[in-house]
Amino acid sequence: MKETDNQQSKSASGNPCEAAGSVSVIKVGGAVVEDPAQLDILLDEFAKIEGPKVLVHGGGRSATKMAAQLGIESRMVGGRRITDAAMLDVVTMVYAGLVNKNIVAKLQARGINALGLTGTDLNLIRAHRRPITPEGIDFGFVGDVDSADGSTLHQLLALGITPVIAPLTHDGAGHLLNTNADTIAQTAATALASSLASSLTFCFELPGVLRDPADPASLIPHLTEPLFRALVADGTISGGMIPKLENAFKAIHDGVAQVRITSTGDLQGGTVIMDN
Ligand code: ADP
Repeated sequence: MKETDNQQSKSASGNPCEAAGSVSVIKVGGAVVEDPAQLDILLDEFAKIEGPKVLVHGGGRSATKMAAQLGIESRMVGGRRITDAAMLDVVTMVYAGLVNKNIVAKLQARGINALGLTGTDLNLIRAHRRPITPEGIDFGFVGDVDSADGSTLHQLLALGITPVIAPLTHDGAGHLLNTNADTIAQTAATALASSLASSLTFCFELPGVLRDPADPASLIPHLTEPLFRALVADGTISGGMIPKLENAFKAIHDGVAQVRITSTGDLQGGTVIMDN
């Protein structure tokens, strides 16, 4: 049944962001992508979301594994991958090929008309190569996002297509760039927010942001930016959770209606990001 904008209807799950005129952007993390059982749980939940939706995936662990099989060393600085020319080939094959097409096939099996893309396809997401840092670190072919084309994404959604986006972008001069998947998800949700009410959900293997990362029961249900900064300062929040939350706060400040960090099987739970 077609819903109209003024019906203000809610979906079966009760999430207003699944109602008419809204879009759900879901980001699935590397550990989930690597674990077929977890991935199945997430894709079952994703398939149940009503209305337009976008899936963004990572795949860093799969890339590390494939690189090792090819005899290519993975080099990380501060948890971030150095992407030289050989590693760019690996991440392109793994993210845009293996991981993306497996997810598309699994969504097609669930009746979702998924289309696998990178930020390069349809010129969806433009980026520039990250400059050498003041400390002299060259991350190589890593992209920092400049712009995203929300209207093309919107057109795909209007056709009933579910975009599945792999974390690669381009610079407009013929170069692919490896780009953080959390940033891709934030960029897509923010670009869509100008025409639809968008929600952004980061799914990973833990219940949400935790006071004690070793204790799944220590969930922080609501996270403000001052509390986030305090928890980074005292070491409670670390590693990949820091850029994930930077992206989460950017999204909520830039007009995304609802942002949460949660586990694969609980898309309505986890930690809700607060705007103030
Ligand atoms: P993904 O690949 O799923 O996008 P990352 O591995 O980059 O995610 O970041 C998620 C990781 O952040 C978790 O696996 C966890 O080890 C770590 N982390 C650090 N601090 C916290 C915290 N306070 N609560 C939850 N996870 C945390």
